[in-house]
Amino acid sequence: APADAAVQDRAIDRSNMKVSDEIAVELVGMNKWYGEFHVLKDINLTVNKGERIVICGPSGSGKSTLIRCINRLEEHQKGRIIVDGIELTSDLKKIDEIRREVGMVFQHFNLFPHLTILENCTLAPIWVRKVPKREAEQTAMHFLERVRIPEQANKYPGQLSGGQQQRVAIARALCMRPNVMLFDEPTSALDPEMIKEVLDTMIGLAEEGMTMLCVTHEMGFARQVANRVIFMDRGQIVEQNEPEEFFNNPRSDRTKLFLSQIL
Ligand code: ADP
Ligand code: MG
Repeated sequence: APADAAVQDRAIDRSNMKVSDEIAVELVGMNKWYGEFHVLKDINLTVNKGERIVICGPSGSGKSTLIRCINRLEEHQKGRIIVDGIELTSDLKKIDEIRREVGMVFQHFNLFPHLTILENCTLAPIWVRKVPKREAEQTAMHFLERVRIPEQANKYPGQLSGGQQQRVAIARALCMRPNVMLFDEPTSALDPEMIKEVLDTMIGLAEEGMTMLCVTHEMGFARQVANRVIFMDRGQIVEQNEPEEFFNNPRSDRTKLFLSQIL
């Protein structure tokens, strides 16, 4: 795939990509149902600070639901979710604390269409974090520079390309100073020529040591950046391994079948 080639032409600086002993996110025996439908079954997952995890698997296997549970966009019914030492319960204060720790980037950008790029980036810092407006704007410009679109700050989302909008969405999440970033298929709604710019932005984040959980089928990105690839099927984690082992020596038949379909 062209995006794979795009990722591979870039030498990655691993000096800050160290995995800490400290735990960033822990899921223990986590289960979720949508009504009668058992969508996540006994999920156990420990993500250390600085880890970069790629989650893949067939459509409908529960990948989005899993990462949406981590910042309570979906509610789990059994087991534990602990983010940076805070257990996620129905306590609204805990939910707020966890949402401040966790940034999320979606497939469809989800920018506010009636707000400028700058306003998209300052809204939550001003209203949720109570950051003074000037400071929030400075932070926003800092992150817009990092995703290489400061010149778009006063435009509206509809005036930007898909790739640019997705980079804004990443900048907007970073403005809340998260310790963990969740990505749900951030490139799958993009035209091929825009995938590279978004993957490059994500690689940059990884190089800075960000803890990342990425649902993606960009296997070039997984090989280069992930320290662990997780394969999900029918609500379960079927297999996980470091990328080399995962791709060269998949253990389960379901993983082999999946890889044969996407590679
Ligand atoms: P993936 O991201 O791996 O494609 P999802 O987490 O989106 O999978 O969905 C897992 C399963 O849960 C699918 O069968 C989907 O139809 C179902 N599902 C997702 N969201 C809901 C919902 N809000 N209500 C009922 N079922 C849902
Ligand atoms: Mg999904």
